[in-house]
Amino acid sequence: MKKTKCHNCGKPAIVTYNNGKLALCLDCNLKFQQAQELIFRRNVKMLNYLTAEIEAVGGLPRLFPRYKVSSPVYYKGDLILNNINIQNSNVGVINTGNVESIDVSLTFLKEQGNEEIAELIKILTKEIIKNKDIVENQKNEILEQLAFITEQLSIPKEQRKTSILKTIFATIFTSISGFSNLLEILEKVKKLIF
Ligand SMILES: [Zn+2]
Repeated sequence: MKKTKCHNCGKPAIVTYNNGKLALCLDCNLKFQQAQELIFRRNVKMLNYLTAEIEAVGGLPRLFPRYKVSSPVYYKGDLILNNINIQNSNVGVINTGNVESIDVSLTFLKEQGNEEIAELIKILTKEIIKNKDIVENQKNEILEQLAFITEQLSIPKEQRKTSILKTIFATIFTSISGFSNLLEILEKVKKLIF
């Protein structure tokens, strides 16, 4: 039996698509899967964005459910989003799912007229990402917590999980206790909320 070769690089194929019309080796299949994942994530992001826009027009934030993107993408390099731009590749490996989530909520906050808090959270997020003294794991944890806070801020006060918010604030304060520039911004954010 003739061995099928990868249509991209010629190595032995391990998988075929479209009734054998596309055959790929292990490496090229991984690239193909990653490309599919990126397209999927982009589409999901667009759908979520459109949903947010519809809600903004109706003045009903978080009315509709969002698609959840299951696997986080860890990213090293420039990060260009609607609000958050980091053009410094030396920031470690960041879970972009959290940063994207913060970015979407920032757009929401701005649309609601909460420019001041949105700007503070934007600066805080960038400073945390760029901080070279916070280890990657902890950095991603803080970003995850910040994503939760920012999402909560984009919904009406009476619907917020205030006690959880306070706990998460306290956790972040502990995590960044060694960095006065970060503490100062988080303090300002807290004053605007509680
Ligand atoms: Zn190949």
